[in-house]
Formats: sequence, C-alpha cells, structure tokens
Amino acid sequence: MNEATKKNGLALHWQILIGLLIGAVSGLIARQVFAATETGEMHPTLQWLTKNIAESLGQIFLRVIFMVVVPLVFSALTLGVAGIGDVRKLGRLGVRTLMMTMILSGASVAIGLGGANLVKPGERLSDEKRTELKERFATQPVKAVEQAKNAKSIRDSLLDIIPRNPLQEMVGALDGSSPGGGMLAVMFFALVCGVAISVSPERTAPLVRVLEGIYDIAMVVIGWAMNFAPIGVAGLMFSLTATLGVDILQTLIWYVVTVLAALSLHMFGVYSLVVWLFAKMSPRQFFGRITEVLLTAFATSSSNATLPTSLRVAEEKLGVRRDVANFVLTVGSTANQNGTALYEGITVLFLAQVFGVELTFAQQFQVVLMSVLAGVGTAGVPGGSLPLVVLVLKSVGVPEEGIGIILGVDRLLDMCRTTLNVTGDLAVAVCVDRGEAVAD
Ligand code: ASP
Repeated sequence: MNEATKKNGLALHWQILIGLLIGAVSGLIARQVFAATETGEMHPTLQWLTKNIAESLGQIFLRVIFMVVVPLVFSALTLGVAGIGDVRKLGRLGVRTLMMTMILSGASVAIGLGGANLVKPGERLSDEKRTELKERFATQPVKAVEQAKNAKSIRDSLLDIIPRNPLQEMVGALDGSSPGGGMLAVMFFALVCGVAISVSPERTAPLVRVLEGIYDIAMVVIGWAMNFAPIGVAGLMFSLTATLGVDILQTLIWYVVTVLAALSLHMFGVYSLVVWLFAKMSPRQFFGRITEVLLTAFATSSSNATLPTSLRVAEEKLGVRRDVANFVLTVGSTANQNGTALYEGITVLFLAQVFGVELTFAQQFQVVLMSVLAGVGTAGVPGGSLPLVVLVLKSVGVPEEGIGIILGVDRLLDMCRTTLNVTGDLAVAVCVDRGEAVAD
C-alpha cells in the first residue's frame, strides 16, 4: 500500500477511477461551455486550458514514469534472468512464454478479422460520409506514414534485435529513434548480461547488488508517480474528451464498436479460459486483483509505463514469483501485444472496406501473420503501433494515407488495446508461473 492509500483510506485504483471520470466528464462539459469557433476550431480558452493545464498535468505523470522505464526494464530483466540461473530452465520459460504469446496473438487477430468480416464496419458508412472522410483525411501528411517509409526488411529487423551499441538503443528506446531494434535490443542485451551473470555469480555479485539498487530506485520513483496518478489521469482524460468530443465517435461508431467488442471478447472470453485452464484461477479473482493495472494501462495508453504496476501486482496479488514476473512481464510489455494485433487486423480490414479494396483469403492470412509480428515489434508507448499499421496496409495494397481517417479515435482505442496488452502479459505470467511450479 502506498502513502496516498493510507492517508485517506481509499484504494489507489478507486482514486485513479475517480480521477478518470472527473477528467472525462469535465472535458465534455468544458467542450459544451466553450463552444467551437465558427470555423470549427477549438475555443481559444479551452485550447489554453487543455494545453497548459490538463496536458501538462498528464505529461508530468507520464514523464516521471518514462524517466525510469529504461533502467527498470534493464535491471528487472537482467535480474530476472540471473535469478533463474539455470539456462535450461530459462529456455523452458522462454519457450513457454513465446508459445503462449504466439497462440494468444493469433487468436486475437482471428477474433479481430472475424469481427470485421461479420460487422463490415467500413461498408456501413454512407457514400457521402465515405467520400468526405477520404477527402478530409487521406491527403494530410501523417507522421506514421513517414515513419513507415523508413521501415526495414524482415532480415534487418531480426538482426537489429542484437544491438551493436546497447547504449544508443537505450537512448532512443521510447521514441523510436534508436538505430536498431529499440526496446527489443535493450532486452536482448539484458538477457545476455543476465546469462553472463549466472555463469559467474561470485565475481558479478557486486553488480547484481547495484542492479537491485537501480530496480528499487525505479520502483520508489514509480510509487511517487502513482500517488500523482489520479491527478495526472484526470488531466489526460480532460484533454482527450475536450479535444475529441463525441462527434467523431459517431461517424466511426461501427468501427469503434467492432474494435471494442472484439477486445472485450478476447479479454473476458479467451483470457478467462486461459487462466482458468492453465493457472487454475477463477477469472473473477484474476480480474478483481489486477484492477489497478487495468486502470493504469487504460489511462496511460502505454504498456511500458504500466510495467512497474504490473510487476508489483503480479507479485503481491497474483503470487507470481519475482524472477518469473521480471522475465515474462518485462519481455511481454514490448513483445506480447494481443490488443494491438487484434486492432491492427480490424483496422486494415476496415480501411480496405472504406476504400473498396477486396482482400482475398490469402491476403487476409497475410494480415494475420503481419499483425502477429507487428504485435511483437510494437513499442509499448502511446500510438506505438501506428507505423506498423501503415506497413500492413501497404503490404496488402490499401492506401496507407487512409490511416488519417482513424487517427481521430485512435487515442481512445489505444487506451483499450493497451489494457488488453497488459492483461495478456499478466495472464501469460500466471500461467507460466504455475506451469513452472509444476515442473520444479
Ligand atoms: N499503446 C500500445 C501499448 O503500449 C501500443 C499500441 O498499440 O500503440 O501497449
């Protein structure tokens, strides 16, 4: 329990939920009070309030967390691997984690594509609206399209997981500016260091203590940030609802509903089944214990920013052993992103429908494969998947600028898919942990 919880007796997740609601509702009210100008732009006062107050509060919260994410990922993973010690055991854990990740990602994309084929959200738009959307958004330059242009081949992407210069990778890990594989490369380096430590435990003992110190510092700092979470989250939600309003949601309602329904099905259907079958845990218990993680993911739209909370909750509330949690959750925060994979599947199909591009079965299968891989390669930061959506669009011949059409609602969907992403990590962690307990 942290300080904030003790002081006023209200559990942190309730405080975050209250902040979230206050932010969302006051954003909507402010939007009504400060009506848009005649040209349809945001009212200047509201713009000022959003930018200088709400967004800044949100940014303070996010930045304090991001400040310690890279050291946390490095120390947690190195210690996790070193703690497991035995390379054979590590291999077993790695293979289990990888298999679950692939199966769950595959299932999520299948649900996404099934949903998009069933509902056909892109065909439900009136012809007028479709033309309006295409004209309004498809001509704007989009950052994600630019980023996707620099995309590497599969061979290079795989090679880039091995960093030439780990420090350079760490520098750009959170904003996509690293020369190689970014966070995946940092993880690879941590993995190698962890194995090396376990080969020579006596001589490296001082370094292990230093890493433990770094890990603890990161956790303490994150604890402070989390005390500020209710306010930061209120700020993030205010700027979201004040900027977005509900109009754009109405236009894209079928798309949004399809994504949300598919995410819910995966979350409450697939994960419930998986934790019940493999971890022998009741789904109610599982979801009840991870509320704080769900809210943090929802509010921050970032798996990496949610990692510290996931690590703590996995250990304290789900009883996952620390080494296993450190390994599975840290790797998972970047590599296991079921929500992202599912969302990419639906988005590609939706845009194909909007632009009247017929995708054959083989092309849809290609979308499944690419979305699963994209889920692994996506950075766990807000909007991390957008450049990869562009790539998948391009590969099946859907106009890539079409991504502009969905950008307006992306933040909302990002919040929801991130929630699924971290739930997936926790589900894999409890299952792998229980599996290990049996194997030991
Ligand atoms: N925001 C997501 C995450 O951090 C990634 C994405 O789908 O954009 O998990």
